[in-house]
Amino acid sequence: MKNPIKKDIRSLSLEQLESFFNSIGEQRFRAKQLYNWLWKKSMFSFLEMTNLPLKIRQILKKNFVINKISVDFQQKSKDGTIKNSIKLHDGYVVESVLIPTEKRTTACVSSQVGCSLDCSFCATSLLKRMRNLNPDEIFDQVVALNKQSLAYYKLPLTNIVFMGMGEPLMNYKNVNLAIKKIIEPQGLGMSPKRIILSTSGIPKMIKKLADDDVKYGLAISLHSANQSIREQIMPFTKKFPIDELLNSLQYWYKKTKNPVTFEYVVWEGINDKSEDINSLIEFCRKIPSKVNLIEYNSIGNLDFIQASKSKVINYKKALEKANITVTVRSSRGEDIDAACGQLANKINESL
Ligand code: SAH
Repeated sequence: MKNPIKKDIRSLSLEQLESFFNSIGEQRFRAKQLYNWLWKKSMFSFLEMTNLPLKIRQILKKNFVINKISVDFQQKSKDGTIKNSIKLHDGYVVESVLIPTEKRTTACVSSQVGCSLDCSFCATSLLKRMRNLNPDEIFDQVVALNKQSLAYYKLPLTNIVFMGMGEPLMNYKNVNLAIKKIIEPQGLGMSPKRIILSTSGIPKMIKKLADDDVKYGLAISLHSANQSIREQIMPFTKKFPIDELLNSLQYWYKKTKNPVTFEYVVWEGINDKSEDINSLIEFCRKIPSKVNLIEYNSIGNLDFIQASKSKVINYKKALEKANITVTVRSSRGEDIDAACGQLANKINESL
């Protein structure tokens, strides 16, 4: 009989590893040792797992593979931002970006190859969704960026944001499994308070996050508090009306007591009028939140033009006057195409 395709060992939970060891007549504690190699030490060679008896290492090698990602291409910006194009075991490419500031380094990681949503201003939406990332592929981006952070900035990674390619709530199971391993002491042992999941806003899944009592932060790509404008720039929101989004956020806050962050780009002629500001203020009053005004990275769609600095300042002042916390975030890594999805798109399209 032909050998079946070997399973990636990191798709197994600790419990499943324990049953595997049980099935080959080995003791349970071996599973913990193996798990430690796989998730704490990022070891990719069974034969080098030296505290396991050689016989076990050989059985593992015969039955499983350990898939790995590799940094295919790297660009470093003038501002220190490092953009990685990450090759997956099947050749697809995603992006991970390391963003240093004075006291911290933030990893911006991807959750899917491409995206099934259709935000007209986002480079990733130009690619259809090819596949979800596995938990290990998400975890490994963090490990790779942590290494870079240590190498370039002498600082372990301090923060993680799910703002790379894909919609994390469309791959929630794997994202959550990856975060579990990022947080747990047998994994990277990072605090969930330093992790932010960014979503374009899928109400049912936001309620699920609240029910699962997750400890990480939530950011919503709002961009407008007006349903008809949101429908124009993010057509998928026809299925997810803003009232349902609000309702799910109120549910989230009630359960987690964690305010949400709204990500918001101000575009010329789209959401730059005073009535747009007023609807945002009204929206923010209904849910404990803060607003992050982010700069637009042009993807060549002429319908979207970043509003002028003075218009952004207007927004900021109006929000502050209404006692809403607001920050203005300038774009990072612009000189190296660090805008969402741009580099990986070029590569995936040519596959
Ligand atoms: N799908 C998730 C996460 C990926 S996008 C989400 O929508 O939140 C991460 C953030 O970048 C989102 O706030 C998104 O609206 C924003 N974004 C997408 N394209 C952008 C662009 N060209 N310029 C600036 N921000 C962009």
